[in-house]
Amino acid sequence: ISKIGVLTSGGDAPGMNPCIRAVVRTALYNGLEVVGVRQGYKGLIDNDMYEMDKRSVSNILNLGGTILKTARCLPFKTDEGMEIAYQNAKARGIDALVVIGGDGTFTGALRFSRKYPDIAVMGVPGTIDNDLCGSTYTLGFDTATNTVIQAIDKIRDTADAHDRLFFIEVMGRDSGAIALRAGISCGAEAILLPERTTAIDDLIKNLKEGHMNKKSSSIVIVAEGDKNGGVYDVAKAVQQEVKNYDIKVTILGHLQRGGAPSSFDRILGSRLGFAAVNALVAGESQKMVGLQANQILMTDLEAALNQHEFKLEDDLLQMMDILSI
Ligand code: ATP
Repeated sequence: ISKIGVLTSGGDAPGMNPCIRAVVRTALYNGLEVVGVRQGYKGLIDNDMYEMDKRSVSNILNLGGTILKTARCLPFKTDEGMEIAYQNAKARGIDALVVIGGDGTFTGALRFSRKYPDIAVMGVPGTIDNDLCGSTYTLGFDTATNTVIQAIDKIRDTADAHDRLFFIEVMGRDSGAIALRAGISCGAEAILLPERTTAIDDLIKNLKEGHMNKKSSSIVIVAEGDKNGGVYDVAKAVQQEVKNYDIKVTILGHLQRGGAPSSFDRILGSRLGFAAVNALVAGESQKMVGLQANQILMTDLEAALNQHEFKLEDDLLQMMDILSI
């Protein structure tokens, strides 16, 4: 290969910038040229790309978001869109792509590379949801969880001062990974996850017991994808039964995506970017790089995409009830 295109796609995640930096500098070290593709697959279709040099990625390790910007791009799902993307990439001399994103991004990359095998693709797992197979951690998950923890600690202060019961919605439509870790880290009284439905009656019983056990505040974390109808419905149902608490709802929303990447995400982004380029140089394609047991390993994109079940750790699930009494 001689020229690598790098793009970020899907939702942005802290750690993408350290990864872009590692891709650019590792490629240059290997005597390759690098093209930055703006706004994910949209930049390939719109021909919105630029040559990157080692200074293009100066002072970005500490930045959240992604300097390449990201987008959801529907035209890339069509044959016509892919053909335009291919022609634009070829015209630039791009013969390999590093795509940083989630499973949608990987699905697109795999389809593209099967259609046009003369462009190699390497995936880097970048999503705050931590819901990809092939990597124990995805870029942005650690930072997002830390952001959530900081916010909940602050809410705990006011909850405690007023004998309040807080329902806090955190990101995770399909994955309770952020909710579970944040809940354990902050001592939440209950954690409602998409993967495991908690009956409202059980929740109410737990909260009443907590009150009898002289808890002065309670925090319930509700992942977006919880099956009880959303944080407001849950709070309303509980309020009807638990009269002695003043109930408040907080939705953390997009603040969970932003902020400087944590040490963990900076290192992970750097490792994965470095590994992605080295894999392409070694002739690999249609794979993703990931972290497993603190080793950087490659997984076939197809295998990673077929294994939909990302499991939450059993011990964390067990612990969440036992430690919150
Ligand atoms: P996140 O987990 O943060 O949502 P993601 O990568 O899963 O990230 P998506 O919006 O699902 O985010 O996908 C990103 C982009 O990948 C889409 O906007 C589209 O351009 C491309 N893509 C997704 N699915 C396909 C597909 N089946 N064929 C081609 N391209 C696809």
